[in-house]
Amino acid sequence: GQPSTKYKRVLLKISGEALMGDQGFGLHPPTVERIAREVKSVHDMGVEICMVIGGGNIFRGLQGSAQGMERTTADYMGMLATVMNALGMQAALEALGLHTRVISAITMNEVAEPYIRRRAVRHLEKGRIVIFAAGTGNPYFTTDTAATLRANEMNCEAIFMGKNGVDGVYDKDPKVHPDARRYDHITYTEVLSKNLRVMDASAIALARDNRLPLIVFPLDAPGGFRSVLAGEGTYTLVN
Ligand code: UDP
Repeated sequence: GQPSTKYKRVLLKISGEALMGDQGFGLHPPTVERIAREVKSVHDMGVEICMVIGGGNIFRGLQGSAQGMERTTADYMGMLATVMNALGMQAALEALGLHTRVISAITMNEVAEPYIRRRAVRHLEKGRIVIFAAGTGNPYFTTDTAATLRANEMNCEAIFMGKNGVDGVYDKDPKVHPDARRYDHITYTEVLSKNLRVMDASAIALARDNRLPLIVFPLDAPGGFRSVLAGEGTYTLVN
């Protein structure tokens, strides 16, 4: 039987780097497949899932602008990187027999559907996995803001932020400080006042103002996504 969950509709946010495995760049097919299986196992529980994937494994706007490129151009390149990641994830999900749609905030009708809120909701109701690509469609934002925006628009009950190498939010960087302590629960206001790097400040404000919970959990443990949905394992709840 399936483990039970109280969640009906969630948004999974992963960074672009989550797809690159040990390669240091781009998409690592076995890693993408592994994450696709995690998504399938939660879909099999009857949960409606939408996803936002970052682009940092291919291009980051800040990197480009640090090298002298105009910031907005660099940000558009970053958004296009997220489209490539979305297509890679779509292919992996469909190889597992799932129905998916990539919806892009920048229209490119040959590649992805345009973002129309009601249509996206309908896809979720029909059990399709919706991958939101191209972030918010605007420069100067991040895919964390896109995740918060879409989760609000889709009426998701929570954002699940899957992390590699870390199992939640710590009071300081656990990779640097062995005495760092993980929070089971922390408020958005505390995250902001303690300047903890969970999401950028605009994403946090958007989540806090709309009472959207965030669950930071480890995505490298097999079955991690499924167990956190069932309320098991280690994670940090931010609300
Ligand atoms: N980006 C943007 N607007 C958005 C979302 C993303 O301009 O709404 C650009 C930005 O340049 C960013 C890049 O896309 O650096 C990749 O996204 P992000 O850094 O959030 O990816 P992650 O760190 O999650 O892999």
